[in-house]
Amino acid sequence: MFKKDNSMPDQKKFQGEIKIDEEKCKGCKICVNFCPNGAIGISEKINKKGVYPVQIKDKGKCTGCGICFLVCPDVAIEIYNEPRKK
Ligand code: SF4
Ligand code: SF4
Repeated sequence: MFKKDNSMPDQKKFQGEIKIDEEKCKGCKICVNFCPNGAIGISEKINKKGVYPVQIKDKGKCTGCGICFLVCPDVAIEIYNEPRKK
């Protein structure tokens, strides 16, 4: 799927999608800080934990690289990616 040199997926070639479980999210923002494409932002609504969870900010920027999934301590993110349709 990706090159063996562990380079980041190219935004022009890969379209990603993430699903965030806003009720699981504790608002630590680790994923926001680690996303290389600035695709995750903060929600305006407080969740049941009393924190502002994160949400996808710009779908078009996500490549599905998986970093947010890997760094989330609460396993609140699922990711998908596929080659962009030409
Ligand atoms: S999968 Fe990668 S590009 Fe997409 S939101 Fe997560 S860290 Fe950002
Ligand atoms: S890393 Fe997980 S728990 Fe922390 S803000 Fe992101 S989705 Fe929420």
